[in-house]
Amino acid sequence: MKITVLGFYGGYPYDNQATSGYLIQTKNYNLLLDCGSGVLLKLEQVIDPLQLNAVILSHYHADHIADVGVLQHYWQLNPGVKRQPMLPIYGHNKDQDNFAKLNWPNSTFAAAYDPNQTLKLGPFDVTFLETKHPVTAYAMRFTERETQRSFVFTADTAYISAMIGFADQTDLLITDTNFLDEPNGPKWHLTAAESGTIAVKARVKQLLLSHLPQNIQPDKLVSVAKEIVPSDLIVNYASTGKVIEI
Ligand SMILES: [Zn+2]
Ligand SMILES: [Zn+2]
Repeated sequence: MKITVLGFYGGYPYDNQATSGYLIQTKNYNLLLDCGSGVLLKLEQVIDPLQLNAVILSHYHADHIADVGVLQHYWQLNPGVKRQPMLPIYGHNKDQDNFAKLNWPNSTFAAAYDPNQTLKLGPFDVTFLETKHPVTAYAMRFTERETQRSFVFTADTAYISAMIGFADQTDLLITDTNFLDEPNGPKWHLTAAESGTIAVKARVKQLLLSHLPQNIQPDKLVSVAKEIVPSDLIVNYASTGKVIEI
């Protein structure tokens, strides 16, 4: 499968770069993971959004869903050829108000995932892990059935040890590395060191630092994580258009 970073900032878009969004592709399937601020414009540069098969959302914070409304307009108003009449948007239904907004006439429909069940989504099996965050949020593990290649997306979370088992031996781990050091005050994301710790304990092949802060050079985050992981574990930071094939 091929993973393209469309947006990687946490909190708000900055310097013409979007917040959380990733395009996950196999030969015949296009899945959008999160749809943050600026993601629709970035998606348009890679594929026609009418060619999406599905969207899946980790949680309902604005930096992960801000462009859902304009994506719905795109599907409603754009006269191009759609891959299917209505686009399913998968989200959790623990927040009924936000879940209901995934419905839009002649455009998209809300589809609930059950975090206790494996979701069969086109060529993928998706499993879920509830994270530690001020609102209900789910990390996701995507496994392509045909190749058994997998990646884990932590969504937004403070450090939880359950993430280690959840990400065990995955080909790629994408973490929300929003901090260089322990912040003062509340902490709802990972530090670079915590991302590295999860990666090494879970024996992943590759680590991608994402959900980045706007005010820290990302190579600094990478060097902190690299101090923790063995040299054969690849560590990179997310940037727009970055493609990882696993
Ligand atoms: Zn976020
Ligand atoms: Zn969040």
